[in-house]
Amino acid sequence: MKNKIIKTLSNQDFRITPVREKMVEYFSNIKQPLTAIQILELFRVDKVKVHKATVYREIDFLLSHDVIHSLNLRKDAVSYELNSLSHHHHFVCEKCGDTIDIIPEKVETALRKFETNLIKKEKVKVNYHSLKIFGFCNRCKK
Ligand SMILES: [Zn+2]
Ligand SMILES: [Zn+2]
Ligand SMILES: [Zn+2]
Repeated sequence: MKNKIIKTLSNQDFRITPVREKMVEYFSNIKQPLTAIQILELFRVDKVKVHKATVYREIDFLLSHDVIHSLNLRKDAVSYELNSLSHHHHFVCEKCGDTIDIIPEKVETALRKFETNLIKKEKVKVNYHSLKIFGFCNRCKK
């Protein structure tokens, strides 16, 4: 995932700075949505010095070039994840804010049926759906 994104960006003549490359790597490797604070923490763990403002600027860059999108999952911060991920839903821990990607299975069939009925009944156009399940994560449930 990472190499493909980097290649697409460099094909458009965007500079691939070390910070930019790292951020694409974090988004590709970590299987959950990330907040700016979590990204800063990842840089700290990797012992890479980076300014908060740089991370925010990079997030804006990745957002405006369709690499990531924002998600309103937690109360305290906006999360971001790759656009190239396949369709899925989220579990959100109400205590620590951690989120887990849920791969939909049977629920998709049920939702499609629901949407078809909605379209018929309310004469609307459906663009997409998003499903959030709230609770406590494994660490917080004790
Ligand atoms: Zn938790
Ligand atoms: Zn996700
Ligand atoms: Zn779905």
